[in-house]
Amino acid sequence: MNGKIALITGSSRGIGASVAMRLAQDGYDIVVNYLERQDKAQEVLQMIHSLGRRGIAVQADVSDRRQVEAMFQAARDQLGEISLLVSNAGIAGQAQIQDLTEERWKRFFAVNVDGAFHTVQCALPNMLHEHRGCIITISSMWGLRGASCESAYSATKAALIGFTRSLANELAPTGIRVNCIAPGVIDTDMLDELPPGVKDTLADETPLRRLGRTEDIAAAVSFLASEEASFITGQVLTCDGGFIV
Ligand code: NAP
Repeated sequence: MNGKIALITGSSRGIGASVAMRLAQDGYDIVVNYLERQDKAQEVLQMIHSLGRRGIAVQADVSDRRQVEAMFQAARDQLGEISLLVSNAGIAGQAQIQDLTEERWKRFFAVNVDGAFHTVQCALPNMLHEHRGCIITISSMWGLRGASCESAYSATKAALIGFTRSLANELAPTGIRVNCIAPGVIDTDMLDELPPGVKDTLADETPLRRLGRTEDIAAAVSFLASEEASFITGQVLTCDGGFIV
């Protein structure tokens, strides 16, 4: 049987990077995945190594099935089989529906939804073989309540919730748990896309009166992946400072 090996998509920066480091602290060896920022992925990798864990950084666009398959093969060859998948890579952006191009709509779904599909399908054969494993998807509170000018993003994040719940039902008899985290507004590069001032407004609108930290989401992932959560599957854990109650 393999040890604890986690693959976190989109872990060169932001939430994924914090999740990678937290899971390394929890004793996992880590596959860091990135799209373009190899420099940032290497920084995360160095921190993982400094924690005494093994790790590799793999470039792969999660929307591309063959690249995802190659990433899993590299993980298998260099670390072992994946026991924890965190499907985190995602893209966001604002546009009024009439200005949203079909190309942009499709790209949102390709990365945010197809990416989860590809990585889950690649992780499952070994999890099914071992009758254990854990999958955590990263949705968004906007997938639960919808966001003005973010219809494509919100639709992908709602799709992830349906995907998670269905998978949890399907896989429960095999011992594999599938859960979802729906973050609120988390202070990462993703917020750079927002118009000036919106970040402060969102912090004010958050009942706990602050933006979320990437470590807040990493702590939630750590819990859902842990033995303490061994009776929890099919859940959507909002981690949003009280935005959705
Ligand atoms: P971020 O800071 O923009 O980082 C995005 C990460 O995803 C980077 O590591 C990026 O790699 C990677 N990535 C982007 N497209 C990819 C692709 N096609 N294939 C593989 N990797 C890709 O984002 P974040 O704020 O940490 O968000 C992470 C997740 O949390 C996303 O799913 C997002 O929707 C969700 N979320 C975020 C917030 C928030 O307020 N920040 C709230 C709710 C949910 P490179 O570094 O190589 O570009």
